[in-house]
Amino acid sequence: MNSFSQLQLAPNLAKAVAEMGYETMTPIQAQAIPVVLSGQDVMGAAQTGTGKTAAFSLPLLQRMLAHENTSTSPARHPVRALVLLPTRELADQVAQQVKLYAKYTQLRCAVVFGGMDMKPQTAELKRGVEVLVATPGRLLDHIEAKTAVLNQVEYVVLDEADRMLDIGFLPDLQRILSYLPKQRTTLLFSATFSPEIRRLASSYLQNPVTIEVARPNQTASTVTQLFFNINEDDKRRALKQILKQKEISQAFVFVNSKLGCARLARSLENDGLRTAALHGDKSQDERLKALESFKKGEVDLLVCTDVAARGLDIKDVPAVFNFDVPFNAEDYIHRIGRTGRAGAEGLAVSFASASDLRLVSDIEKLTKQKIDFTSLDLDPERAPARRPREAEEDRPRRTRFAPLAAPVDPFFDKPYEASTPSAAAEGSSVAAARDIPAPARGGISPNIKPKRTVAALFKTTS
Ligand code: AMP
Repeated sequence: MNSFSQLQLAPNLAKAVAEMGYETMTPIQAQAIPVVLSGQDVMGAAQTGTGKTAAFSLPLLQRMLAHENTSTSPARHPVRALVLLPTRELADQVAQQVKLYAKYTQLRCAVVFGGMDMKPQTAELKRGVEVLVATPGRLLDHIEAKTAVLNQVEYVVLDEADRMLDIGFLPDLQRILSYLPKQRTTLLFSATFSPEIRRLASSYLQNPVTIEVARPNQTASTVTQLFFNINEDDKRRALKQILKQKEISQAFVFVNSKLGCARLARSLENDGLRTAALHGDKSQDERLKALESFKKGEVDLLVCTDVAARGLDIKDVPAVFNFDVPFNAEDYIHRIGRTGRAGAEGLAVSFASASDLRLVSDIEKLTKQKIDFTSLDLDPERAPARRPREAEEDRPRRTRFAPLAAPVDPFFDKPYEASTPSAAAEGSSVAAARDIPAPARGGISPNIKPKRTVAALFKTTS
């Protein structure tokens, strides 16, 4: 049922699909591929991770095979399909997938995005490409430089359209679309159909077929969700403690701001954890390197913001930490959707400070699950001395959490010291392998003070 073999894809595409190991179509593929093959416009509500890329690129490549040729003349390889995405990582990822699907055809695919030298992109465009994957800003640069000519485009895909509007790409999109022939197939994919998205669709799509696959407002049942009520200053320590206790080998750590992301990554790195940061201020090279290192297992913690991480094709991360509760409850679902995929067990840990209660209740409403607080015994060693202003901010407010005593420990102010080899040999978890000091043999380490308990929340989903 819903097998790729039913589609009668051209042998060269079918071969590539088989090589990818796909047998059954995902729901978005089963619905969208026949529609795109028939040449109709599509408005699709689907997110990354649903198989959306193949849903638009396979039928698009199939139809473009009519133009396939082996000529070396650039004129024989005009841009015929344009795929627009909001971020460099997504553009890179989609282009890689399209290249895999097209690998047994003569169709050429290129990707252009900002933060990289324009020259190699220009050279590739000049040789001629049929499928151009791009972020809007850099594409406009190429249009202005006349290295991207779009007057023969037959297909345009606006992928992650909601995110493109969020980022403020609407004027760029409007300009780009004005360069395209009116006679074309337009595909728009978005996580939500907000009024802005509907307006965009009504301006640029013609009688689109609307395809919606189940919106993931449900969290996977394979993900265990833990919520802890942690003061800002204790979060880093709690993170390391949980990494060690749960023997977590790799994790995504989500934060809400670029600044917080850079700061946390730096401090975890200083603590001896193999960490990389992924946020919008990183150069393209740094971001791709961080991603590669994480995929290869050279980095254990990828600290990232939502925009930078949205849609990244990294599956089966053992754990996801919400170092900050996301401002938007839907982002909670996106974030924790990176773990517990395809039936694997996953762990999602969220740190909520007293001021995050409203955000936690938004998550409860969206996911229709009650989130219960429980306790975490926080090891007190290395407690940071709390800055007076922040201590002040934590004074009793109207909250259901018990106020926490401010831990003061001069040990934390000492410069970082690398872990002892015996500590590294102790466990396989990230923290165990690095900076959590091993207890002194035959006695309690002078750094260890009696445990104290903080309120936390703990939930295993059904
Ligand atoms: P996407 O939503 O397009 O980013 O796809 C997410 C992941 O699912 C990618 O790694 C694809 O290679 C993979 N994928 C796409 N379609 C299928 C399929 N029919 N069966 C198995 N994996 C797929």
